Amino acid sequence: MFLQEKGTELACKKLEEVEIRIRKACERAKRKREEVILLGASKSVSSSKIKEYYQCGLSVFGENRVQEFLKKYEDLKDLSIDWHFIGTLQSNKVKYIIDKVSLIHSLDRESLAQEINKRSQAIGKIQEVLIEVNIGEEASKGGLKPEELFSFYERVLTFNNIKVLGLMCIPPYKEDPNEVRPYFEKLRKLKEKLEWEFSVKLPHLSMGMSHDFEVAIEEGATIVRIGTLLFGKRT
Ligand SMILES: *Cc1c(COP(=O)(O)O)cnc(C)c1O
Repeated sequence: MFLQEKGTELACKKLEEVEIRIRKACERAKRKREEVILLGASKSVSSSKIKEYYQCGLSVFGENRVQEFLKKYEDLKDLSIDWHFIGTLQSNKVKYIIDKVSLIHSLDRESLAQEINKRSQAIGKIQEVLIEVNIGEEASKGGLKPEELFSFYERVLTFNNIKVLGLMCIPPYKEDPNEVRPYFEKLRKLKEKLEWEFSVKLPHLSMGMSHDFEVAIEEGATIVRIGTLLFGKRT
């Protein structure tokens, strides 16, 4: 009992620290705090620790690995957690998560779109997704090349059970977060260009992690995905 309360106390303190930094970044950018969703990137974080953060008021969590997610989902199914999927997704795993996640951040290929569409149709759902863009065009990272984005988006529009809500990126790591700014700016401009060309409104930009989320907020992020800063170093 004592240990449990200690854990929760620390969780609330960590969450509050991040919260304050988000609020300050919003102020600098003249944006409202409500425009930015804080997502706890909870890979490798235990179910009991996720619960502590939930009790402090964090309700959106994102997972990267299907097996790990399914276990936590089961452990925590009595809580009203809004689960997102933020990692690379194999098509053959879509069926396990489709009824459990509200947003998939990592749509990056047509075969995956096809599978998501098929599985959401089967359960009568319209799955909300973000298209992942390889904004730094790094060989080591997933996501579409910026120049592939427009034709891909057009193709995804033909899937009736998928709704694209915006874009996601994992930019190159830079020691100085200010050097990441051009990548965030580029993603925002790509989103604006899509909105213009297709006469649509795309509400979300999922960008910014522990070391660069403040710059991301200044550049228009609507979802920041924070792991280390909230939960500590991953083991
Ligand atoms: C792990 C992860 C994060 C969080 O990274 P931190 O640097 O620990 O904040 C964000 N997004 C994705 C896709 C991740 O895999």
